[in-house]
Amino acid sequence: MSTQPKAIVVIFGATGDLAKRKLFPSLYKLYKANKLSDDFAVVGVARGDMSNDDFRQSVIRSTDKIVKGRKDINDFASHFYFQAADVTDKESFDKLQTLLHKLDGEYQTEGNRMFYLAMAPEFFGTICENLKSSGLTSTEGWSRVVIEKPFGHDYVSAKELNDQIGRVFTEDQVYRIDHYLGKEMVQNITVIRFANAIFEELWNNQYISNIQITSSETLGVEDRGRYYESSGALLDMVQNHMLQMVALLAMEPPINLTRDEIQSEKVKVLRALRPFTEEEVDDYFVRGQYGNGYIEDRDVIGYREESNVDPNSTTDTFVAAKLMIDNYRWAGVPIYIRTGKRMKEKSTKIVIQFKDLPMNLYRDKNHPHPNLLVIHIQPDEGMTLHLNAQQRTGKEDSLPIQLHYCSNCDDKMNTPEAYERLLYDCLLGDATHYTHWDEVSISWKFVDTISKAWNKNKEVHFPNYESGSMGPAASDELLARDGFFWWSVANRPSNS
Ligand code: NAP
Repeated sequence: MSTQPKAIVVIFGATGDLAKRKLFPSLYKLYKANKLSDDFAVVGVARGDMSNDDFRQSVIRSTDKIVKGRKDINDFASHFYFQAADVTDKESFDKLQTLLHKLDGEYQTEGNRMFYLAMAPEFFGTICENLKSSGLTSTEGWSRVVIEKPFGHDYVSAKELNDQIGRVFTEDQVYRIDHYLGKEMVQNITVIRFANAIFEELWNNQYISNIQITSSETLGVEDRGRYYESSGALLDMVQNHMLQMVALLAMEPPINLTRDEIQSEKVKVLRALRPFTEEEVDDYFVRGQYGNGYIEDRDVIGYREESNVDPNSTTDTFVAAKLMIDNYRWAGVPIYIRTGKRMKEKSTKIVIQFKDLPMNLYRDKNHPHPNLLVIHIQPDEGMTLHLNAQQRTGKEDSLPIQLHYCSNCDDKMNTPEAYERLLYDCLLGDATHYTHWDEVSISWKFVDTISKAWNKNKEVHFPNYESGSMGPAASDELLARDGFFWWSVANRPSNS
């Protein structure tokens, strides 16, 4: 298979935020890295009328932040074409078909087509149906469709959407994006686990006491209040990104690294998640909403004061949870997750806390320093192993030390971004880092119980955490009940 795929990429929603901020710059980076042959074209679709030249200028502007060596930017942009179309209007698709036929000939793309749906989710199903009825998916080459998040808002809506897409595309043509799966250190989880004997041998309930996954943002909802009101942190982060990280951390070694084998192991983890009744949800899940506060040197307003947000909103901007995986490897090991907006720091990291030795001669009872493996997902990418060594003063208790590895510290600009990797994978036909319907459906069923319980009980005292904090007190209590606490910058042992 060529590593320089020939194809036409059709981006529905080409004047939108995602296209400009992520997709165009990622395509440009692929072009610069020689991963696109000269035989590629990109067709942008949106309603407004725009000339190809104007569209190309907007593509060029979107790459402004890529500062080094943009000499070839005009050549790159010359591959872009704009097609004005309303995706709800079938006739628009006939015009699109005519353009794609023409470009197929001009660029020798052999009928290969990638349809990227960078549009509001209510259009996903309609676009697929119109693609089929207008014959755009019947070509000599391959057709693949990339679906953005959110994939439904509960199991029923996700299933409806999946059935609608399934009437047009087979599962192996469907690429459901979870951009966390494109991140360097999320992809690295399997390498850390399966290429290091020292970790994999200990990766179970005999040696690991608990796992903590934190994904915190300092930003609030910004101008996405309307969307966020119908989503909240549970649907926006937990159903997809957080559960995907859990699955990668907890899965059994696959028999090989193919999509089918990896996804089938992830599915088994999701199936083993301990289910809760609605009555039990509060024992395992904590929800929060930010109030006003002080963050990054400025005062900020609370969620209920944000634009397009109900002043009495009960939407969750924070979720913490204790997940249990009821299988042989993980029985008894809590996996704590937390995610939220307007928190103290912007960071995604995973902390694996190992159990104490049965008799640690050097243990300082007041300041325990368990071994930790911290996987830094963002903004730093790397890992830190927390160990103990001898005190230079010769005291009896040990000194906590850290071994660091940072994969992006020297060159943050040239590290491939998640979207760059994922777009390229799709062009190559590799869906390993996309989500299979089985994963999506099980995750929704799990999360639906929590949504239902929370929707029934609106008697919640929000706001319950201050902007600039690490979430509500109940999130700390969730771990304290088990004798643990969240590892964060403040309580990280340091050897500096
Ligand atoms: P957006 O900025 O609102 O852009 C929507 C695009 O759709 C625009 O190009 C708009 O152009 C086009 N559009 C709307 N109605 C149309 C119609 N009937 N026919 C043809 N085109 C139409 O949205 P976005 O933020 O880019 O998000 C796109 C998708 O990506 C959503 O599913 C979102 O959840 C997902 N996503 C976005 C981000 C992000 O950072 N933005 C992150 C993760 C996921 P016209 O109005 O000119 O037609």
